[in-house]
Amino acid sequence: MVEILEEIKEKIKEYEKQGFKKKILISDLTPRDGQQCKLATRVRTDDLIPLCEKLDKCGFYAVEVWGGATYDVCLRYLKEDPWERLRRIKEAMPNTKLQMLFRGQNIVGYKPKSDKTVKKFVEKAIENGITVFRVFDSLNDNRNIEMAVKAIKEFGGEVHAEISYTRSPVHTYERWMEYGKELAELEPDWISFKDATGIMPPFECYMIIKGLKEATDGKIPVLLHNHDMSGMATINHMMAVLAGVDMLDTVLSPLAFGSSHPATETIVASLQNTPFDTGLDLEKIAEAAEEAKKIKKKYKKYETEYAGVNAKVLIHKIPGGMISNMVAQLMEANALDKIEEALEEVPRVEADLGYPPLLTPSSQIVGVQAVLNVITGERYRTITKEVRDYVEGKYGKPPGPLSKELVEKILGPDREPDFSIRPGDLADQEEWDKARKELEKLLGREATDEEILLYILFPMQAKEFLILREKGELHPEPVEELADITETPKGKVEGAAPVEFDILYHGDRFRVKVEGVSFETEAGKPRKYYIRIDGKLEEIQLFPHREAIPKGGSTGTVSPPPVEEGIPKASEAGDVTPPMPGKVVKILVNEGQPVEQGQTVAIVEAMKMENEIHAPMEGIVKKIFAKPGDQVNPDEAILRIAPYKEDKSYQ
Ligand code: MN
Repeated sequence: MVEILEEIKEKIKEYEKQGFKKKILISDLTPRDGQQCKLATRVRTDDLIPLCEKLDKCGFYAVEVWGGATYDVCLRYLKEDPWERLRRIKEAMPNTKLQMLFRGQNIVGYKPKSDKTVKKFVEKAIENGITVFRVFDSLNDNRNIEMAVKAIKEFGGEVHAEISYTRSPVHTYERWMEYGKELAELEPDWISFKDATGIMPPFECYMIIKGLKEATDGKIPVLLHNHDMSGMATINHMMAVLAGVDMLDTVLSPLAFGSSHPATETIVASLQNTPFDTGLDLEKIAEAAEEAKKIKKKYKKYETEYAGVNAKVLIHKIPGGMISNMVAQLMEANALDKIEEALEEVPRVEADLGYPPLLTPSSQIVGVQAVLNVITGERYRTITKEVRDYVEGKYGKPPGPLSKELVEKILGPDREPDFSIRPGDLADQEEWDKARKELEKLLGREATDEEILLYILFPMQAKEFLILREKGELHPEPVEELADITETPKGKVEGAAPVEFDILYHGDRFRVKVEGVSFETEAGKPRKYYIRIDGKLEEIQLFPHREAIPKGGSTGTVSPPPVEEGIPKASEAGDVTPPMPGKVVKILVNEGQPVEQGQTVAIVEAMKMENEIHAPMEGIVKKIFAKPGDQVNPDEAILRIAPYKEDKSYQ
């Protein structure tokens, strides 16, 4: 380390003597990686356009706007055509190279595709506006990026070939240099060194960047892409500059740091008036940052819990997105109490699979198997199809050797895994023609190449999306802005409603935080509450029956209580209530009908069982409040029975 420090000191002296100047280039990633890390990729094109217009005026080397999760999320959640998004952004950014993240042979999906599909995608991406392709493979198996590199060159794009960093016994300094030399042979325009987890220490960063420049004889420019999960990325940026890096990846300050990248403003300012000045104008960047701030406010509800610096990543090495996925899977299995066990299982599965860097799709492959190993109570009792495919070489060659036991379990005794065939060759070679035919049958017309690509990459989502669009029934839900709340000091304002609190529920304690409430929209439509329960954001649809103004603590205007309709709270002796929350299946009586005590008057389904609901007293059915299909709670009246008067006439 002393050597490195001496070296840096010498370098600075040398720079000063020579009047050395080296402009560091900056690529801004806010519209893709920034919003993916901080806002779960939920920002709509309409809201990205003003940001893109401002970014276009800043003079960045390139701006990342597409690929990664955007393609998937556009289809799955936003009901937007990702190709349309790209065209609109291109129109808004005539002066800047548009960049996308490309998962090698997996393109923007989770499984290797045929070479034909890869080529078609690249061709169409360039046609629709992409110039720069960041191409990576989550195993660093460079056979998975060859085809994309060839196609990008053929169609006139710019190749940034990536090396994905991780820490493991097989990932040594020499290994990184080997990867660098392998990539150099593909003659990319740039080599990108990427730490997607944010666990690379600064001195190692210095060594690797310097080494990569040397290993490629300084012929290929090198850039650093460094997530900031452990808070070290800004230091790494400085170390990389001193080590000879040519470009840095940054994100505008409102969506920077933590799971994202160092802020564009921070890096530009840090290098100002030094030999490494980026030449960028902080005023113009500030204007773009204003737009990013508006986006952050509007999409606040999607801010992920793991968005900030979380230095624990240095111990477990698991990226935030992967933890959220594992939490979701455990919750589905009703086994969230096993999360610590599952996190501890991750490094073991990682080792069994030969230490793949935890990026898409290997992060998903490792994460799901770790969860299964824990909830089934026996390691590899259940093996996912993805792990089988992985061991059979369908994703590529893992960095290190695989666990012998696991290989034997999957391939049978005395068989060695064979990684000699390229995943692109193992993929379905007919997928393009099959997809085209299926799609044309579905749409009743010729399909465009862009539509075929949507369908090959995300068949289920694309099918739904394209059919709806064909019928003219594609209505993306508008993004609801949340009502502002005015926070008050705890216990100081009488009647203020708590927005963050703990609840005890069946003996378990949960931390609950109300992150936002949608304004009430149309009558009968639910109000959306965004509630964080033990850190996990949940969207809850609420159908209000009664509303109240907290005594003395009202903020803003409150609309008058609506005329009461629907199911009232039980308040009278003759109110018929269910024993537990459930859904009304049948009402067996009519208004005005006399009933005996104990007579079955309704059927309510609860806990997947049909329950008979009995009259609590004899009398006349005065009013029926609930109808089949309604959800009812034990404190609510399904119907009301009025007692007979002594003369048995109606009350
Ligand atoms: Mn990234």
